[in-house]
Amino acid sequence: MVKLWMIGHSTILLEASGKRLLTDPYFGLWGSLGYSRLRPPARTRQELGNVDVVLVSHNHFDHVDRAFLSRLPPTIPVLAPSATAFITRLKGGRKVVGMSPWQTLALGEIQITAVPARHVTFTIGYLIEAEGKCIYFAGDTYFGQFMAKIGHQFRTDIALMPVTTYRVPMTMGEQSALRAVRMLSPKTVIPIHLGITPRLPLLRTGQTPESFRERVRQARLQTEVVILHEGDNYVPLEGVVS
Ligand SMILES: [Zn+2]
Repeated sequence: MVKLWMIGHSTILLEASGKRLLTDPYFGLWGSLGYSRLRPPARTRQELGNVDVVLVSHNHFDHVDRAFLSRLPPTIPVLAPSATAFITRLKGGRKVVGMSPWQTLALGEIQITAVPARHVTFTIGYLIEAEGKCIYFAGDTYFGQFMAKIGHQFRTDIALMPVTTYRVPMTMGEQSALRAVRMLSPKTVIPIHLGITPRLPLLRTGQTPESFRERVRQARLQTEVVILHEGDNYVPLEGVVS
């Protein structure tokens, strides 16, 4: 059974085919000079337990956790954009595996494919195929035409996407996320990147996952938007389970 567990922000634990995959680990409680963390993660670094692989989309503070990565056993692969793999190593990654777009890696019965993404720094997304399901982890990407190719190659069941943004856009934002939904036609979108907010109120947009869900409804798209809070689990066909 495929199960997603929202740890918080863009940190999601995906359990499938007997493996545990963790996306963009971030366990810090404070944030940064520019952003404050809104709520603590559902689990601490220690409570999370073992993982089999870590998928890093890019090296910003809210996507790589030095204390977590440096404590991982040296046998656990940490996938990261190849162009900046050295930074992931500097940020605690030990067995860092540089990934380029369209490169595929097998983890037991699971296929992980790196896909293009666009941000203010080097970044990639991931398509995870497991147990007949296809899960897209978009990282912090903006909308881009590369999504047409992703939509062409993969029939996405669940898209983990940053659908809200700030006045200085750091992620997709509602309008672009709607375009992405049209292009990818995922069965389900789970909004991510909800755990931090700009310290300067001026930079906040007021976009929420609920307002995005309303937009998708109004557009009469077939996609369902499922909002997960820290600690929520999601199982396809069953929905949110606690
Ligand atoms: Zn981010």
